[in-house]
Amino acid sequence: MVGRLLNFLGLSLDVCPVCEERERGDLPLCRECAGKFRCEKPAVKRFVPGVKSFKAFGYYRDSLAVAVRKLKFGSFKPLAEFLGQVIEHDLKEFMSQTKADTLTYVPVHPLRKFTRGFDQNEEILKGTGISFKKLLIRKRYSKPLAGMKKSDRERNLLGAFAVEDPVYVRGRVILVFDDILTSGTTSSEVARTLLKSGAGEVHFYFLCIEY
Ligand SMILES: [Zn+2]
Repeated sequence: MVGRLLNFLGLSLDVCPVCEERERGDLPLCRECAGKFRCEKPAVKRFVPGVKSFKAFGYYRDSLAVAVRKLKFGSFKPLAEFLGQVIEHDLKEFMSQTKADTLTYVPVHPLRKFTRGFDQNEEILKGTGISFKKLLIRKRYSKPLAGMKKSDRERNLLGAFAVEDPVYVRGRVILVFDDILTSGTTSSEVARTLLKSGAGEVHFYFLCIEY
C-alpha cells in the first residue's frame, strides 16, 4: 500500500511497476513478477487477411497485460528491454520457421513517439538483440482503436501506413512485430501495405493476444 502510494506520487523508483508492492532489484521489475513471464504459445485460430501466419508469446492478461499497459501508458521504458529479452528465443524460432528475410515492427505515429518519448515496439525489438529494420511509417495519427466498432476501426486505419523504401520489401518475406493482436485490423492493414509494395509474404509475431 505504501509502495503503491509512493509509486503513484513518483517518489520511489525502486518499486516493481507490475505488482506495485515489492522492490525491484537489478531488473526493471521484481524477481517474483519477472519469473511469471513464460511463453504460453497461445493457440489462437483467427484469420487475419493478408497475414500468412502469426504467433504470439502469451495472452493479454495478468503480468503481461500490466507490463504492456505500464510500458505504453505509464511510459515505463525499462520494461521494453526486459520484454525483448523474454521473447528473444521464441521470436528467433519463429523467424527461422517462416524463413523471414527481414524483421520489422508496427510503428506508432511520430507525434505519439514524441509524447511517449519512445516507440514501444521498436524498444522491445532492441531488447531482443535481433537485427531489424524500420520499414513502415505511420502517416495518420489515429485515435486508440479500443472500443471502436470493427467497421470504424477499418475506416480509421485505411491508408494509415506507408512503406519507407520499397527496395527492402520487394520479393521479401517480412516478419512484423506488434505488441498486441486485438481485432487484427491493424495487422491486416500493415500486411496490405507491405504486399502492395511487393512483399512476398507477411508474417506477424505478437507479444500478446487479446482473447
Ligand atoms: Zn513485482
